[in-house]
This record gives sequence, C-alpha cells and structure tokens, in this order.
Amino acid sequence: MLGLMQNQAMLISNLIEFAERHHGDAEIVSRRVEGDIHRSDYRTVAARARRVANGLDAWGLASGERVATLAWNGYRHLELYYGVSGSGRVLHTVNPRLHIDQLAWIVNHAEDQVLCFDLGFLPIVQAVYSRCPTVRHWVALCDADALPPNAGIPGLCSYEAWIAGQSDVYAWPSLDENTASSLCYTSGTTGNPKAALYSHRSTVLHAYAISLPDVMCLRARDAVLPVVPMFHVNAWGLPYAAAMVGCKLVFPGPALDGKSVYELMEAEQVTMAAGVPTVWQMLLGHLQAGGLRFSSLQRTVIGGAACPPAMLRSFQEDYGVEVLHAWGMTELSPVGTLCSLKQKHLALPPDAQMKIRQKQGRAVFGVDMEIVDANGQALPHDGRTAGDLLVKGPRVVAEYFKGEGGDPLVRDAKGMAWFPTGDVATICPDGFLQITDRSKDVIKSGGEWISSIELENIAVAHPAIAMAACIGVKHPKWDERPLIVAVKKPGAVVDAADLLQFYQGKTAKWQIPDDVVFVDAIPMGATGKMQKMRLRELLKDYTLPGT
Ligand code: ADP
Repeated sequence: MLGLMQNQAMLISNLIEFAERHHGDAEIVSRRVEGDIHRSDYRTVAARARRVANGLDAWGLASGERVATLAWNGYRHLELYYGVSGSGRVLHTVNPRLHIDQLAWIVNHAEDQVLCFDLGFLPIVQAVYSRCPTVRHWVALCDADALPPNAGIPGLCSYEAWIAGQSDVYAWPSLDENTASSLCYTSGTTGNPKAALYSHRSTVLHAYAISLPDVMCLRARDAVLPVVPMFHVNAWGLPYAAAMVGCKLVFPGPALDGKSVYELMEAEQVTMAAGVPTVWQMLLGHLQAGGLRFSSLQRTVIGGAACPPAMLRSFQEDYGVEVLHAWGMTELSPVGTLCSLKQKHLALPPDAQMKIRQKQGRAVFGVDMEIVDANGQALPHDGRTAGDLLVKGPRVVAEYFKGEGGDPLVRDAKGMAWFPTGDVATICPDGFLQITDRSKDVIKSGGEWISSIELENIAVAHPAIAMAACIGVKHPKWDERPLIVAVKKPGAVVDAADLLQFYQGKTAKWQIPDDVVFVDAIPMGATGKMQKMRLRELLKDYTLPGT
C-alpha cells in the first residue's frame, strides 16, 4: 500500500524558492574579486538565478548538459548553483588550483558546454580555451564594462550583460528528483580524476543532514562563512543548507589570508565558519600576532584533513569557539561524520572531552559505516581495532561519472554494497569514528600499523613546528619506519633531537619516528592537503640513520 502524502520531488529549485518566499531579505554578502563588499539577498539571488536559467534556455542547452564554473565563493557563483541545477542542467565546479593539463582533461571529460569564470582566472582560461572544443560559451563573471577588450577568447561575454538580457520570470521544471544536478571531480591521486555525479535528491538529503543540531546546527539566525571553496565538493553543501534554513551567507571571495577572513568575520558578525585546517592555521596566526578576539564566532567546522589537537585546543580554550571536527569525501556529498559530544560526555573533565573532540565524530544520517579486515570481516567497535572504512547510504556514490575506474563498490557477506573509502579507522562503542590514516599512508612497521596522523599531530603540537607530514621509509628489519618531514615556524630554533625528545611519553616507544627532516615547505595539493605522494618521491633517496 502506498502512502497518501503529496508526491513532490526534492529539488534544488525548491531550496531557493523557499529561501526567496520565507527568508527573502536574509543577506548574501560577498567580498568580490574586485576587492569591494557586495550585498545581496535570497530574493535577488533567486531572481537572478531565473535569469541564468532563461539564458541557458536561450543558448539551447539541453537538460543534463554541463555548465562549468571556475570561481571563488561569491553571489554570482551562488546564482549559478541554483540557475544551472534548478533548470535541469549539471553544474560542474572546476578547481582552479589544478594543473592546466588536468583542468583541460576534466573539462573535456565532462564535455562542458559553458564555462563561467572569475576575471582573476582569465590567464587560466586563455591557456586552456583552445584545448576545450566542447565549450560553446565563455562567460566572465563581471560587469559588461569590466570585460577585457583583447582577451583573445572567441565570443567571450560578460555575465551581467548575459543575464541582463533575460527575463527573471521562469517556471522551474518539475524534474525527477534523481536527475543529475552537479559534478565534482576528486583530486585523483591515482589514475585519471574520477567524478561524483550528485542528484537533486542526494543534494537535498545532504542539506537536511548537515543542518541538524548535532551536525552543523544551522539556524536562520546564523551568519555562515564557508571558507571551504564552492569549487571543492560544493563548499561542503553549505550553499544549499543555508537556503534551506534561511541564514545569512558570507562569501570570502579570493581573500583567504588570516587578516581578510578575520576582518570579514568581524564586520559581518559571522557565527559559524567552515574550512580546512591550513586556512585556520593562517587565521589563528593572525589572531595570535595581533592579540585579537572573535566577537561573534561561536563554532567552526574543520575537516578535509585531520584537525591538529593544538588547533582544536586553541580555538576552544583561547577563543571560546567550539570546534566541530568533520570527516567526509567527495563521494559522500561530502559530510560523513561530525564530532559533537553526547550527554554522558558533558560531565567528563575537559581533557577527556578534548580527547573525544579530536575524533572525526559520529555518523550523520544518510551515511552508515563499518570497519573491516583484509577479508571483509567486520571488526569490533572498541575504539582500538583499526580497519578499512566502508560506507553506504542514499548520498554515497554508486558509480563514477562515465563509469571511470569500473565498479567502485564492494559487497559484504550479505551482498550489501559498500563504498570503500580508502581510509583506515577505529570506531568506539559510542560510535565515534577516528581516522588513523589513508590506507596508502599507513606505516607498516614489523607487521604493526602506525598512524601517520597521530605522529603528525604530536609534531605540530611542538611550539617551533608550523607543519609536519609523516611518511613511511624503507627499513631492512621493520619494513617501514616513520619519518617526520617538518617545517619550522619563522625564526624558531629546533633540531631533530629536540623534536624526537618531544615524542617521549606521548606515544608508544616503538612508534616514535626514527628521524626528522626539516624542509622549507611541504607540497600541497589543489584542495589544501599535504601531498605525501610527492613527498615520498622527493625523499626517495633518503635513508634512515644506521641503515
Ligand atoms: P580529494 O579526494 O579530492 O582529496 P576529498 O575531500 O574527497 O578530496 O578527500 C577525502 C579524504 O580526505 C578522506 O578520504 C580522508 O582521507 C581525508 N579527510 C577528510 N576529512 C578528514 C578528517 N577530518 N580527518 C582526517 N582525514 C580527513
């Protein structure tokens, strides 16, 4: 027997219609590429998104065709999020930090028809346009009079001129909720980049999930600043969830340095901000150097890479900002777990609470998880046994776009399909996940596993260390032993012996790294993560002392 409720699809257009009708004057504030602060609201964004939809109709774009963006976080990008997906096309957010060859590869693989870009990325567009034959329309996200006269891109038009010529009256199509809505490529550390193709349904489900009180606790009264880029897994879904709850959105544009982010937070009275640890490092550095305080920030979601305990402590204890440590992946839309305490933890002493907060947190509805051994057998959730992390759920990838890389799923004994995350983790009896490593980064010493993340966290807790990566290096007796590659803070004095001494008592003796190599910088990938593969290549001739 079927239920007798209205059968209305869950669509991205519903989100912006809802925000327009019920939170029309909630602000959308953007620092623009031009440097100034621009103020808009959901009413205006909705109207302009309809102009985008009409503009795509006028260009004859079929349903399902891809529209690429190469843009920072800002109101025009938000209008494209809604105008492109809402009208049945697929929004393909391209990461401008990718190498030019990779960028050209994914534009061709996605067969993008339109590419909209911030003027700051004009040099990238000039370098790739001739290699992107599928792109029929190049759109610069600027006013007509800001369009560079001799850009050399055939048919280049300005976004403002394009949408000014369109009506803001548009009836959003009643799509099947499983219709594709947006496309995100993962950084592809092995083989070609692979893309997750989200649907309207998975996107709306994710927006509900991340808004929950035990997740990001989003409310209409919040002012949310996504530092995480809209070109990286849809800024963790915040542009959709914000419309769902009707909160103010504050976009930082290209200015991600500590000073700019801090000033924007203060000026716009931001209550919640989300980003990767490297960005928060710059923000905390700015606060510490200037003896500054936050006047409105209540909580921050930190994810994408493990949040170092020293950073967590500093936010919580020095600045009274609650850290919500989150774990996710492009393939999960992306939020999988987020760390907020249970009732029984509130009576624990601060140090014990801090230990829990350092974990990546509990599963968020829509993602189920399990840890298994090499034979696919489930392992105990005892907080100690580490295994390969599998996930499943209605907003987890079922296959990659165009079948790239074959079937990504594995089946368990009952035939249930799971997505293997490539992460190694423990789960405690209270359901808190702790990522100990990427499976390719875990260090295998004498048949035992050593967590590179744990050893990195200890290194960056040393007052003289700015950044640290831990990699396994060959050892004749133990197979692999941990090596710390560290960057000193400016002007700091520390040597390998000092840092190794610092490990005493902080981890099991046999897990203490064998050596430390100091470098000027650690190679970072396009999504702000340390590139350990590059590091391993750079240090391929390194040998441990005494081997
Ligand atoms: P990409 O694959 O493009 O680098 P993702 O953002 O999808 O981008 O990366 C997902 C991976 O990032 C996870 O599988 C995990 O290894 C790592 N990761 C994400 N959040 C955390 C976290 N809080 N702690 C540790 N690792 C994390």
